[in-house]
Amino acid sequence: MTRVAIVGCKRIQDQLCVACEKCLKAISKREGEFSRYKDGIELVALGNCGDCPGLIMPKLTLMKEIGEYLDRQFDVIHLGTCVVKAKKTGQCPLDFDKVASLVKENFGKELVVGTHPY
Ligand code: SF4
Ligand code: SF4
Repeated sequence: MTRVAIVGCKRIQDQLCVACEKCLKAISKREGEFSRYKDGIELVALGNCGDCPGLIMPKLTLMKEIGEYLDRQFDVIHLGTCVVKAKKTGQCPLDFDKVASLVKENFGKELVVGTHPY
């Protein structure tokens, strides 16, 4: 069982991609970037990036601290497909490689880019 935290784009989440139903479907059906989890998934956190111009690391730190407080820590962080779209079609300032390095360095966790395929 892999415990997953999803981080979405604050400008898109529940605005242009409503109620995160797409990621919830993909988790249920093991589609998109969730197809890798053959041993099961538990979604332990679903939040946003902290907003522009790139406040994701303070936000992830808070998510980690709350997870420790609740004894529900995540194993892996997924950047939502919304974040990928914000980078490709908008002016998202996040550098995914840099975020992945910081996540590994600070949390010892893997960062996966993307979530649902819809
Ligand atoms: S554009 Fe990028 S930094 Fe801005 S809210 Fe969306 S994901 Fe976060
Ligand atoms: S891509 Fe996923 S995390 Fe992002 S807004 Fe859509 S359903 Fe939510």
